[in-house]
Amino acid sequence: TYVVTENCIRCKYTDCVEVCPVDCFYEGPNFLVIHPDECIDCGLCEPECPADAILHEDDLADEQQPYVELNAELAEVW
Ligand code: SF4
Repeated sequence: TYVVTENCIRCKYTDCVEVCPVDCFYEGPNFLVIHPDECIDCGLCEPECPADAILHEDDLADEQQPYVELNAELAEVW
């Protein structure tokens, strides 16, 4: 699955949301998140993000690992 990370915080672009074929972006408190069970791994959103905030979970740096759980949690809650 793809994961939204720290560069998205307070970002106002929604290019990713527009290209996602399955509509799996959700609004968190101050950034967007991807629902891990709904994302079909198409990769369309990654190049659209002007903040380079979207990464495949396998490409995350160590300090970005918490975003995996954060995306999952916030996609359910918000
Ligand atoms: Fe949506 Fe595809 Fe991005 Fe997953 S990888 S969030 S399905 S655009």
